[in-house]
Amino acid sequence: MIVSLLFIAGTCIGSFITSLNEKLASESNFFGLSFFTARSSCNHCHRQLFFFDLIPIVSYLYLRGKTRCCHKTIPHHYFINEIIYGLLIVFAYLEANTFIFFLISSIFYSALIAIALFDRDFLIIPKTYLLIILFLGLFNIYLTDSYNFLISATFMTVAVYLIKFIFDNLFAKNTFGMGDVLLIFNLGLFVDFFSLSLILFLSSLIGIVHGLSKKDILKTPLPFAMHLVMGSLVFFSLY
Ligand SMILES: [Zn+2]
Repeated sequence: MIVSLLFIAGTCIGSFITSLNEKLASESNFFGLSFFTARSSCNHCHRQLFFFDLIPIVSYLYLRGKTRCCHKTIPHHYFINEIIYGLLIVFAYLEANTFIFFLISSIFYSALIAIALFDRDFLIIPKTYLLIILFLGLFNIYLTDSYNFLISATFMTVAVYLIKFIFDNLFAKNTFGMGDVLLIFNLGLFVDFFSLSLILFLSSLIGIVHGLSKKDILKTPLPFAMHLVMGSLVFFSLY
């Protein structure tokens, strides 16, 4: 019972994040503040949506993937994102042993997946999600009394930044973004140095495999934040 309720709650979060990502993408500052004041409207004809159209999964299936107002196709990633988030919240629930850690891991995973989806589509990380994870990480350190994470996260961030600096000069281009470096710092607020190294190793492996699947490896920009998120999720599901 509780698992199905959490799944439904997760699908609502997934629906919310999908629209928030779209809003963030259309804004230059990536904060998405106007999102909270605007009402949901159709992406094609801009008519306001009914409450029923906003129910995750159900409305997509009932409307058979078409908008009610103008019968345009609703991209299937809406539907997929809702299912991913539904499963994610259930996973966070099964993994956590107290309510507060369930809340932390739900928000943490939600923001991570939001970053991955955004980076995949736009090759940039919105500041909003980085800030959410930063505050959550500091709160986690305070709760678990693991202040040493701050030192190891800082150390790793400086090391990665130096690598970025060398690579940028070597290849005369921006090899990966500052957002990626900040994301590594944020991840370091949740795990110890060894685990963070393991996450970076897993993420790089995923990145290399992804890079090799592209025709022109050096010219195609890769979503490294997405690889970082995938590496982290692999780590947390095994850990
Ligand atoms: Zn429409």
